[in-house]
Amino acid sequence: MKRPLATALAFASIAAVSVTGFGMPTAHASTPATGVSAAAAASTTTDVSAMRQKFNAYVAGMDLDAATRTKLEAAGASDAAFTAAGKVAVATLQAGLTNAGVDRDANPALNPGDYECGPTAMNAWVKDQVAQIDPTSWSWYTNGILGLSPDLLVQYWTLMKTPSAPRDTSFGPSGSATNEMARTFGALQNFWDIDGSGIALVSYDAKLLADTPEAAADRAVVYDGISKISGFASILLRLSVESGILSGTLAGFPGGVDNPMFSVNSFAIDPTHATGDDKATLDMLGVTRRIAMGQGLIRMWDDLGLGRVGDRAVLAHEYSHQVQYDDNLFVTDITDEAEATARTELMADAFGTYFTVSKHGESLNKAQTLQDLQTFYNVGDCGFSNPGHHGTPNQRYRAAEWGADLAKSQSDQGHVLPSLAVDAAFEKALPQITAPDAN
Ligand SMILES: [Zn+2]
Repeated sequence: MKRPLATALAFASIAAVSVTGFGMPTAHASTPATGVSAAAAASTTTDVSAMRQKFNAYVAGMDLDAATRTKLEAAGASDAAFTAAGKVAVATLQAGLTNAGVDRDANPALNPGDYECGPTAMNAWVKDQVAQIDPTSWSWYTNGILGLSPDLLVQYWTLMKTPSAPRDTSFGPSGSATNEMARTFGALQNFWDIDGSGIALVSYDAKLLADTPEAAADRAVVYDGISKISGFASILLRLSVESGILSGTLAGFPGGVDNPMFSVNSFAIDPTHATGDDKATLDMLGVTRRIAMGQGLIRMWDDLGLGRVGDRAVLAHEYSHQVQYDDNLFVTDITDEAEATARTELMADAFGTYFTVSKHGESLNKAQTLQDLQTFYNVGDCGFSNPGHHGTPNQRYRAAEWGADLAKSQSDQGHVLPSLAVDAAFEKALPQITAPDAN
């Protein structure tokens, strides 16, 4: 499933084959340079000029080959050139992320009027969390300088970091979900008929933004990686992030680096199934096969009263994407991008719930099964035209319900269906799952 993105690098290409976000509605809303932050974001002509001078001073002090120097100096030659280069850099790093559900505009391909769709408890929770963050700090996180934001840094780090790092094995507030995540992950590896031995489970969090030598070393790894994609992006990202950290911008987030809004997301990535330029980029960044679970997302399920089920449901959903990679289930005849994405996302909801309800999976009871369905309802979105559209709340609920029914209807409760058999049944059910539902 190739997407017509403008660039062949970084998240753009990664997204085309491998990144499957869980449907975060707001965190990546980065219109370059709309924020006003004394520390980092540049929103006025004066700010742009000041940032450009910083950039030029930085470049002047670098040891560079002549061609690279010429390129970077051209980018810093005028405010207009600087702004234009920033736009290209953001597009390069962020193209894939814009698929994550930011655009909630109504749509040409489907008719939103036919679908019951509205804000869920998750939307209200997100709004409430953002309201508690200092606006300047939030602007820094989402916009940075010319759109090169700490948000991008955190996401690249989640892709690039070594899965076995000791500080990455803890999940939930004070590690409360660590055992459950490890156990469920092991159960998933046993349950599905793919070789999941090479898949790692990593934490998605913002600890690398801390003002400590360890965190600074982690950040340096990302700057180095991104410099291989775009020298300009790497320098600007470094200036953006480091100036914000130095000026204490993190103090504007309740809980500092542990604020949940840094990581209300999750994704699955499988570089082993990437090809061509995509593969080259992933290899260059050292990305290995993984599932990243957002600490903020786990915190959110706790706050919404779905803590014992929501995190397992999300993990099962992400693991289903790994099954899709192995089974080549991303391939489809559907030409509309939003519809194609919704198909694989709804399939992951269905596969995930088949696992959580099955006797050989998590064996959820009736009340917990309902919480599983509510989990998927909550992460539904109404971005019908967005290429990252994951399905409406009702569709996601119905897809999960379909998976639960499949598990319960099996006469032999000790038997786990082959993943391709689950897919064949799901493809038949999809039209009903996505049928218009408004009265
Ligand atoms: Zn997904």
